[in-house]
Amino acid sequence: MSKVLIIGAGGVGRVVAYKCAMNPSVFSDIMLASRTRSKCDQIANDIAKAIPGTAIKTAQVDADQVKEMVSLIKSHQPKLVINVALPYQDLTIMEACLETGVDYMDTANYEPPEEAKFEYSWQWKLHEKFKAKGIMALLGSGFDPGVTNVYTAYAAKHYFDVMKTLDIVDCNAGDHGKAFATNFNPEINIREITQNGKYWEKGRWIEIPPHSVGRDLYYPGIGPKKSYVIFHEELESIVKNFPSLERARFWMTFSDNYLTHLRVIQNIGMARIDPVMYEGKEIIPLQFLKAVLPDPGSLGENYSGETSIGVRIHGLKDGKETSCYIWNNCKHQDAFRETRAQGVSYTTGVPAMVGAKMILTGKWRGAGVFNMEQFDPDPFMEEIGPQGLPWQVQLGGDLEMEK
Ligand code: NDP
Repeated sequence: MSKVLIIGAGGVGRVVAYKCAMNPSVFSDIMLASRTRSKCDQIANDIAKAIPGTAIKTAQVDADQVKEMVSLIKSHQPKLVINVALPYQDLTIMEACLETGVDYMDTANYEPPEEAKFEYSWQWKLHEKFKAKGIMALLGSGFDPGVTNVYTAYAAKHYFDVMKTLDIVDCNAGDHGKAFATNFNPEINIREITQNGKYWEKGRWIEIPPHSVGRDLYYPGIGPKKSYVIFHEELESIVKNFPSLERARFWMTFSDNYLTHLRVIQNIGMARIDPVMYEGKEIIPLQFLKAVLPDPGSLGENYSGETSIGVRIHGLKDGKETSCYIWNNCKHQDAFRETRAQGVSYTTGVPAMVGAKMILTGKWRGAGVFNMEQFDPDPFMEEIGPQGLPWQVQLGGDLEMEK
């Protein structure tokens, strides 16, 4: 029985709140707080209707302000703060957790607002402080990062003596019926995918122009889809924690239509994150674009199709070459029926709840700042299927990376 405080009432916050409410023996008292309180109230009302007897508390908070976070934590007294606001808030929320002695968890690593650069260095730097305080921070408990880190740890534990290559493959074969929309926060999403790509090979990072390496990969239940190598944050912690990996890449599917829109957005300057003057007022073009694009949280109702995300690993077991592929497919409509959110929010929110459950039940415990693959993957893998994201494994055989 534990009190939790969820920060952020977007698509992911909605799913986390639903899934916590569906596990009342662990999450006995839930507060949902965000910049706009009415969004928290809407989610709390939807949950009260869907799960009678559930009363989620709500609050307004600006999580950029450590002071506001500290006073909210002091008034609610949670055992854990689940941060599903934006990556910009990671450090202020971690600071508030340090000040109040409360555990911390998030789903995306810190990014400075003025530079589209995401890496763990800022959060890893807080390890000694969390350790000294005797509390823990669990970083990246979404799907990717998150489940992909746990799949990798599970493969390392059960299927390999030495892992040599890792390919994380992320396919969204859904159709939301809009000409262009992003599946999570547009500002964060566009910053992520317009950067140079980067992958790990033979002990160093190889940088490539955006979307310059692409090929058809085969996804179970979906078929071949054009996939591109991009940099994704879990690669950074995975190559550190599994140093035998000679190569680690991350692939994501993009349609030609999506890439054309993206190119136009960049060419006309709408992906800029530096301020420009407009009618006497400073605006950031990408933030303005976010205001006119569809809200990812609103895509669920008409979203068809499914996502397929997994890890494909090659290595040695008992001296023999072997391979494994672990993956989950999630249908947007199933996600919507359960939580009124689309599949990308769902595949992020469910592991966030399961990660929180690992911490609160003591199955994952430590003092300091941790990534998901540093803990025993088994209890997480046992829990994630029944909670909504069942996984499958293929051992041996063609990983179908090179078609
Ligand atoms: P949304 O933009 O839909 O929601 C973000 C929420 O955070 C909004 O409610 C917003 O408030 C709130 N917020 C923003 N700034 C502040 C602030 N200063 N103080 C308090 N609240 C604030 O994003 P998503 O729900 O799509 O994504 C949430 C997080 O999940 C992001 O960090 C994203 O990167 C991560 N993510 C992780 C994935 C994974 O697999 N690991 C996959 C997808 C997303 P307001 O409504 O007022 O704007």
